[in-house]
Amino acid sequence: MKKPIIVSPAGNREKLKFAVRYGADNVFFGGDFYNLRIQSQNFSFEDMKWAVDFCRENKVESTFLLNSFLHQNDLKDAAEYIDKIKDMGFHSIMVSDPGMLMLLKEAGVDCHFHLSTQMNTLNDRSVKFWLDAGFSRIVLGRETTIEEVKMIKRNTDAEIEIFAHGALCIAYSGRCLLSRYLSGRDANQGDCSQPCRWGYSLVEEKRPGDHMDVIEYKSGTEILSSKDLCLLERLEEYIDAGVDAFKIEGRIKSLYHAANSTRIYKHALETAGTPQFRNNMDFWKKELDLVSHRPYTSDLFNEFDKLGFGGVPYINRALFVGYKIDDGKERDEILFKTFNPVRVGETLSAIFPIENGIIRDGDFKVLKIYYDDVIETDMARPRQLCRMVFDKPVADNAIFRRINE
Ligand code: SF4
Repeated sequence: MKKPIIVSPAGNREKLKFAVRYGADNVFFGGDFYNLRIQSQNFSFEDMKWAVDFCRENKVESTFLLNSFLHQNDLKDAAEYIDKIKDMGFHSIMVSDPGMLMLLKEAGVDCHFHLSTQMNTLNDRSVKFWLDAGFSRIVLGRETTIEEVKMIKRNTDAEIEIFAHGALCIAYSGRCLLSRYLSGRDANQGDCSQPCRWGYSLVEEKRPGDHMDVIEYKSGTEILSSKDLCLLERLEEYIDAGVDAFKIEGRIKSLYHAANSTRIYKHALETAGTPQFRNNMDFWKKELDLVSHRPYTSDLFNEFDKLGFGGVPYINRALFVGYKIDDGKERDEILFKTFNPVRVGETLSAIFPIENGIIRDGDFKVLKIYYDDVIETDMARPRQLCRMVFDKPVADNAIFRRINE
């Protein structure tokens, strides 16, 4: 039986690199147009070429996103855009709108086509319909139950992908007008302003302006916000159901988020069906708790009534501070790219890819920080390159975080 794969988010070049190094089998990214994260940094044409080559070298599938919905006025521009990307050599293109698929076919694009979850595919007839239309992998609607997944696998030849980890929408597989209605930004064009995560108060109609607090949590009230998905504990059930690809959401989250969740799910897939799967569960859960998230639910398909919903604020137990610029050597003085301040004397926690089941994570004390190789400082500022000396050698691919007490 073909082993299921991990599909990871790649919001920019460095996120893609780390997702691949930390175990992704497939990465997804978008260009400047027609994908559902237009606030993400996204890939230029040059980045796309680099991404395809990097993925090929590392035997990883590259999926390009063209999954927004097209209005009549968009068709001409979309066709011109497709013309520019059609020879990039992507492994696959993710599409929602059948009109987009027609444009791709008219342009003679030769790659796999994956159907986005936005098309709410929930049954084997729909899957067959989309296979006939030219898709090879179907990302099921998030409302599909595990029993339905099993039936779809039994009755079709489709590769099936489901969401395993990350933010959920309260709307039906992401089809939502809240953002367009409240902020003029259309979620289905990739421009969601996330009003489901905003704080709300109560106003009695005869007393406009008199906002009464609805007190849900100390930190606020988010009555429309969903929990985050975490299918880790149920992964073996979904493997048995025949799922081919497990997707991690989060192109606009940090590279630490992409890397850490990718390595945990990859390790879980590799050990599924063996005693190590249960033995490692506490470590995996601890690590997934150390990426920023809302409280987790495994109630992806709403099989357990309302457990997946209820307003809940973010949990941040660790802060991503930076990573080692690789030089092929394990050494105590390294070139370091910062994302948050780092101070001399503090101890950082570092994570590494899990290879052959070996976990090499550890704590590293910062002894010295230099700019331009000579200017010593007490604190490294964010978004800088500096030299850091640690109390012991640091291997390539290290990602550093500060764990909150
Ligand atoms: S407003 Fe919330 S539910 Fe609606 S599309 Fe955006 S994230 Fe999803």
